[in-house]
Amino acid sequence: MHTKTVLITGANRGIGLEYVKQYAENGDQVYATVRDLNQAAALRHLASQHDNVELLTLEVADVSAIRALANVLSTLTVDILISNAGTYPDSAFGNTDVQAWLHAFQVNTLSTYYLAEAFLPQLQRADAAKFIAMTSKMGSIADNGRGGEYIYRSSKTALNMVVKSLAIDLRPSNITVAALHPGWVRTEMGGPNGLIDTQTSVRGLRQVIAQLDTHQSGHFIAYDGQEIPW
Ligand code: NDP
Repeated sequence: MHTKTVLITGANRGIGLEYVKQYAENGDQVYATVRDLNQAAALRHLASQHDNVELLTLEVADVSAIRALANVLSTLTVDILISNAGTYPDSAFGNTDVQAWLHAFQVNTLSTYYLAEAFLPQLQRADAAKFIAMTSKMGSIADNGRGGEYIYRSSKTALNMVVKSLAIDLRPSNITVAALHPGWVRTEMGGPNGLIDTQTSVRGLRQVIAQLDTHQSGHFIAYDGQEIPW
């Protein structure tokens, strides 16, 4: 089987860490980025057991750092890029923080766009690259029946629109772009009441990614393959 080169952001815990584990165990070449290697004991342990895992530092809110990383990896071919790092500051009506809101847009929305821009040459080198944005059903306008969570919801809704435009702009380069929802997952972000564990979520997500074809570029899909309304 043809092994893939996969780059994953926010890889030190939660869904990102599980992506690294499963792709590494599958024999793929994994580039795992974290903002602080000192906060990445589990990932460092994983990398010590798999010589196909390379660790790199990336603060995704820093656009110049994204560009610098793309420069360091300028000769790479990337088959799958997963923009996974995300943040969820609490926010309710009457209780939102401007700086937290702007920062969440940098982390959840802008970083995905700038990753696509910076890594375009590496993605173009692949036969049929896949560019994945980890979004959330909470960014679905159609699904919003509870209100609240202004910061997280709006940053993921904006991310979804970035995905849609990227899908159109990158089509001539044969790059498939998708917005994936991991389910409600038991991680630091999802909390202990999440419905599924990271193993189940990432197993499903990897299958969705493997089966994605160009006709699904610009789609919003859950870990179990279900299409989600925008
Ligand atoms: P976690 O909170 O468990 O992990 C978030 C990851 O993002 C960490 O690795 C964190 O690194 C990293 N990160 C946060 N901010 C930055 C930054 N500025 N620069 C670099 N890395 C950063 O979240 P999950 O694993 O649960 O979520 C992964 C993705 O899935 C997110 O995009 C999230 O929105 C999405 N999602 C999750 C759901 C869930 O139920 N868990 C549901 C729907 C979507 P650090 O340790 O340094 O903070």
